[in-house]
Amino acid sequence: MSKHIFVSGGVVSSLGKGLTTAAIGMVLESRGLKVCLQKIDPYLNVDPGTMSPFQHGEVFVTDDGAETDLDLGHYERFTKTRTDQACNFTTGQIYSSVLNKERRGDYLGYTVQVIPHITNEIKEHILRLDTADIDVVLTEIGGVAGDIEGMPFLEAIRQLRHDLGRHNVMFIHLTLVPYIRAAGEIKSKPTQTSVRQLREIGIQPDLLICRTERPLSQEIRDKIALFCNVEPDAVIEELDLAHPYLVYQLPCVFVKQHVDDRIVQHLQLKCREPEMDEWMAMLEPLENPSHEVEIAVVGKYIGLQDSYKSIYEALTHGGIANDARVIYRKMDSEEIEADGAAMIEGVDGILVPGGFGERGIEGKVLAIQYARENRIPFLGICLGMQTAAIEFARNVCGLNVANSAEFDKDTPHPVIALLDEQANVVEMGGTMRLGAQECRLAAGSKAREAYGNDAIFERHRHRYEFNNEYRSRFEAEGMAFSGLSPGGKLVEVIELPEHPWFVAVQFHPEFKSRPTEADPLFREFIAAALRNRQAVAPACRTGRGGRESLC
Ligand code: GLN
Repeated sequence: MSKHIFVSGGVVSSLGKGLTTAAIGMVLESRGLKVCLQKIDPYLNVDPGTMSPFQHGEVFVTDDGAETDLDLGHYERFTKTRTDQACNFTTGQIYSSVLNKERRGDYLGYTVQVIPHITNEIKEHILRLDTADIDVVLTEIGGVAGDIEGMPFLEAIRQLRHDLGRHNVMFIHLTLVPYIRAAGEIKSKPTQTSVRQLREIGIQPDLLICRTERPLSQEIRDKIALFCNVEPDAVIEELDLAHPYLVYQLPCVFVKQHVDDRIVQHLQLKCREPEMDEWMAMLEPLENPSHEVEIAVVGKYIGLQDSYKSIYEALTHGGIANDARVIYRKMDSEEIEADGAAMIEGVDGILVPGGFGERGIEGKVLAIQYARENRIPFLGICLGMQTAAIEFARNVCGLNVANSAEFDKDTPHPVIALLDEQANVVEMGGTMRLGAQECRLAAGSKAREAYGNDAIFERHRHRYEFNNEYRSRFEAEGMAFSGLSPGGKLVEVIELPEHPWFVAVQFHPEFKSRPTEADPLFREFIAAALRNRQAVAPACRTGRGGRESLC
């Protein structure tokens, strides 16, 4: 059936295993192969949905409503595949499934053990993606080789190579080859140690991808190949990129070093040469854009790049679609709360992303008021839409103390409130309004114009909704409800027709955005920000963010 590639990591975490896996998936897809990507996480949470963004970064949501690891976002941005519930599983899910089976008596009196019961469960989970129409399943193993909690996963993939045969399974190991400044040398020892750890448990990598800040000499490649027992041209260099937004160059880095050829050879795949015209055309405006635009992202998890991963990527995609480089002014909403909205001065557009809890809300309200009053293009996402509603209620409708019931249960004006079906929810995991939902867009609205369609499906992750009791009051003051759920019960999009571009959405358009096809709202938001920039004389800009804040 399908062939399997397993990507493990060595030496340290944060080497970009998700990006590397995604880029390999892209290259195989460009050779006409059907791929499917999955991530295994070795933690005990059933999914990352209950984790703080500071612990885990962004929670990526799939069409079928799974709350997953942010690496699935990379998979969807690099390849044309759509991930689902089966594409991310954790130790927590594996144990929960095994324990349920044990309680049901499925193990017929046997002692239930890590080997074979946990490893068999892992193998079954991996093989769920193995279907007749998928040529290659790429599985990324979270964590670092040698971690105690990752052992059952490595043992399971070792067994899979035995079960399925050498030419049906390939092991790729992503490792670090550090440059030691004091010695002026590149060191291969950490990679040797990491590969030795894999070999101790029976895994011999077929390909080594070496993250490095300096180019690898032939001498060091030969040394790594000899000590790690791989062929010299199976040592691949993955040099640090000049800027994080250049991650989309990664597939080219791999094609240049024939990573795809080695995979095709090892797995005995029959396919064409890579066809990357569309991808290469996308890289041109990314690398050499004609314009520049500065966007304020006002959030409260701003210190951690990964918390708003898909937002930053979707902004980059909007930039590519407009031949513009997006410069981010990352703004902590609590600082705006303390120092006032003047801090935002000079930006070309303002984005308020999603979030949970009361902290930083007032700063977001101030930023939105600034965008509305100064006619600066604004895109609000999820909590960003909810805070836009609070701002409008307070400052336009005169409902001074309006709030969301999430932040003030006793507010006399809960313009954002819980739906009845959410009011009785007790368990926190997996119980929000999740996944792709249909939204109908009003004729003549900016959202309808952007999407070019009356009906759209975008992904959701929230508990609270716009309170319909306030709809007519808002409409009377100039707010348009331009996107509603079928039947009209739930508000999905609000916008201000009299403003140059003020659109806020209850869903998360960032999740479906791709570099070669920006999400329509991000594309139009950046277009509006560019128009705004071109209308304002350069001297009026403070440029606080500047090039150094390039993301
Ligand atoms: N906290 C809000 C809710 O639960 C918004 C969630 C979000 O921004 N993803 O409705």
